[in-house]
Amino acid sequence: MTVVIVGAGIGGLVTALRLHHEGLDCEVYEQSEQIRELGVGLNALPNAVKELAVLGLLDWLEELGVRTSELFYTHRLGHEILRRPCGMQAGFSYPQLSIHRGQLQGVLLRAVRERLGPDAVRTGHRLVGFEQDARGVRADFVGRRGEALDPAHGAVLAAADGIHSTVRSLLFPEEGPPCWNGVMMWRGATDWPEFGTGRAPTAPVKPSWTPPASAATWRDMPTLPTRCRPTSTIACRPPARWCSATAMAARKA
Ligand SMILES: Cc1cc2nc3c(=O)[nH]c(=O)nc-3n(C[C@H](O)[C@H](O)[C@H](O)COP(=O)(O)OP(=O)(O)OC[C@H]3O[C@@H](n4cnc5c(N)ncnc54)[C@H](O)[C@@H]3O)c2cc1C
Repeated sequence: MTVVIVGAGIGGLVTALRLHHEGLDCEVYEQSEQIRELGVGLNALPNAVKELAVLGLLDWLEELGVRTSELFYTHRLGHEILRRPCGMQAGFSYPQLSIHRGQLQGVLLRAVRERLGPDAVRTGHRLVGFEQDARGVRADFVGRRGEALDPAHGAVLAAADGIHSTVRSLLFPEEGPPCWNGVMMWRGATDWPEFGTGRAPTAPVKPSWTPPASAATWRDMPTLPTRCRPTSTIACRPPARWCSATAMAARKA
């Protein structure tokens, strides 16, 4: 039995590793020509880390990430609002890991290629449709210039094609695009000598910064530590095709 997985993001790659671990064949199809290590920091909570540990990835990930022992919030002048323990310090059997999203994806991709074979992830394949019958499912792809590529056949199609999922839009054509709730979140990563408990990843951090769209420059951010110098900036305005909070309220009504 072959599972056709669409999308080589974190969801698609972990699904491939887990299915392989259970003895099932799978192929991963990704629209990007090249999978690059994009993003900034994310937190893998103990339940997620447990899954990654079962796949034998914990040592690799601990080299790149930080075992997070506590989380605290402060207001803009540094006064503490809330502090709580995380991961094993909070009594879980597995740690919480703060890790660069791109590096996590890189580890997963390496593991998929090592375990499932160098061609297990087929890049430059954008899913445009699928058809299911009693024998299985056929997935149709196009390349970068819109040219038709060979279809994939499997017993199951697993859609891991992200928030703008093509598979979901085909299954639920009336649903429309995702709704933006109006909350803007921004994050950064930088080399820093010591902070809080002083833990740091052993591998160097790729500096990056994502300022809010309303900030004319990163200097407009009052909470930015003065030593945090971004090397790249990405505007994070919601994409035009996302509907607004007002449209979301109208849709609910
Ligand atoms: C570039 C990027 C950077 C991110 N950075 C952060 C971060 O710094 N911190 C954080 O917490 N979260 C970040 N996220 C979000 C986080 O990674 C996701 O919320 C989470 O990992 C969801 O994973 P996913 O596999 O479901 O989807 P995604 O990670 O979005 O992956 C979906 C994949 O499917 C591919 N795809 C989409 N449509 C098709 C199609 N039709 N055919 C074939 N392939 C398709 C996409 O190219 C993508 O590789 C980022 C996501 C992306 C895409």
